[in-house]
Amino acid sequence: MQGSMMDRPLLISSILQHAATYHSEKGIISIAPNESECTLGYREVERRSKALVRWLQDLGVGDGDRVATLAWNTHRHFELYYAVSGMGAVCHTINPRLSVEDIAFILEDAHDKVVFFDSTFVPLVNALRAKGTGVGDWVLLASDPSGIDDIGGVLIYEDGIRRFEGEYTWPLFDENRAAGLCYTSGTTGRPKGVLYSHRSTVLHALACGQPGVFGIRESDVVLPVVPMFHVNAWGLPHVAPMAGADLVMPGQGLDGASLCRLMNRQGVTFSAGVPSIWHGIWSHLESSGEQLERVERFVVGGSALPESMIRYFEDEHRITMVQGWGMTETSPVCTISAPTEAISSRGRDEQVRLKARQGRALFGVEMKVLSEDGSEMPWDDRSSGELMVRGPWVCSGYLGQEGEALVDGWFPTGDVVVIDQEGSMKITDRKKDLIKSGGEWISSVALEDAAMLHPDVAQAAVIGVPHPHWGERPLLIVVPREGCEPSDGALLGHLAQRVERWQLPDRIERAESLPLGATGKVVKRKLRELYGDVFSVKEGSADRSAQ
Ligand code: AMP
Repeated sequence: MQGSMMDRPLLISSILQHAATYHSEKGIISIAPNESECTLGYREVERRSKALVRWLQDLGVGDGDRVATLAWNTHRHFELYYAVSGMGAVCHTINPRLSVEDIAFILEDAHDKVVFFDSTFVPLVNALRAKGTGVGDWVLLASDPSGIDDIGGVLIYEDGIRRFEGEYTWPLFDENRAAGLCYTSGTTGRPKGVLYSHRSTVLHALACGQPGVFGIRESDVVLPVVPMFHVNAWGLPHVAPMAGADLVMPGQGLDGASLCRLMNRQGVTFSAGVPSIWHGIWSHLESSGEQLERVERFVVGGSALPESMIRYFEDEHRITMVQGWGMTETSPVCTISAPTEAISSRGRDEQVRLKARQGRALFGVEMKVLSEDGSEMPWDDRSSGELMVRGPWVCSGYLGQEGEALVDGWFPTGDVVVIDQEGSMKITDRKKDLIKSGGEWISSVALEDAAMLHPDVAQAAVIGVPHPHWGERPLLIVVPREGCEPSDGALLGHLAQRVERWQLPDRIERAESLPLGATGKVVKRKLRELYGDVFSVKEGSADRSAQ
């Protein structure tokens, strides 16, 4: 027997329609490149998005066509999100930090018809156009092209919005149709396209808005530092208007000083980003003595949230730190380490330890852990294996390779994890970052976590380096805190209290910074290129594994 409820599709356009109708006094504060801050209410944003649809139709964009963006977090990027998906086309966000070769490949693979780009990316666009890409129209996201001399033959965004102002009714269609496209970062091989549907995007936003997840309220002022060019800025451009919260779009000013100024000027209460962003804010707050006046919660994801960062922001600024885990393939948010009653009732050290885990699955997501031989591991916080996930916002395949990503209906994440009895997941490594020494596995994450607990260490990375005797041995690279010079002895003594002796790094290097990739994660491939032969050169030196 079927239920007798209406079969109305879950469509992304309905989110903007809702915000424009019921929260028209709220909207977007935006800093586009080379422009001053502007404020637009959600009703105005919807009006402009509808003009954009009428223009896209005039440019020949139709159902299912791909429209690409190379853009910062601004009101215009937000309008593109809603106009392109709302009309039934696919909004393809491109990460401008990828190489020109990868972006050229992506444009061709996706068959993008039109590309909208910020003025910052003019050199990149020229390099792409020189390669020949098959793109029909290029649109500069600006009011006029003055001050930008080295680009010709492009359309200007605000001209189109002015010319095509007029009535438009958002169409209804199947909620399973593609709405967004985002490519993986391509750390192993070519980037692969992940196609989000209207249904997956709306359900993901509903789940992320929950009190136990991001908990966005109408009174919140939300600043997504996490870029709209990668995995839909963790759903915030959908979650905030759904709740009727204001959105602050920071454009390209992502350094600590600019972000702190913007947060205080606009009364930001909630923000989200990768740890390297919070490192920048941390350094700025320490050196300037500034305070963040209204911020209540920071969500951190993309890489592990260090305990030292939790302690700094929570203890010194009373900002609640929440950790999320996810991937391009999972929309992204699947787990959250938000403060639960269980966490709040524990002692401080235990609270911090629990918050540093990646956390429990959101309603809608299921997890399991598989050993190398494919058997399911118990949730005992000790048995590790590959994390498998499934749910309505987890991809089942890549563009052009539908259905091929799954193993028995589950998505293999490549992350090696343990899960405790309360269901809290902790990443112990990436499959490819585990270090195999003399037949035993060493977790690079465990060593990094331990190194970052040292007060003189700002950042740490561990890689496995080929070793003539042991196969691989760990190498630790640390970025010392400003003005600190921790010795090898001090660091090793500190690590020895936290990991087994045979797991201690054979060598410690110092660096001024770590190489970060297109999504703000440490690029271990680059570290391997830099340090990959240290043991063949200095064979036998300081070989702690042999002791
Ligand atoms: P991407 O698809 O580029 O967003 O990268 C996804 C990968 O980032 C995951 O498979 C994890 O390895 C890593 N990742 C995401 N969130 C976290 C987190 N909270 N802690 C540690 N690693 C994370």
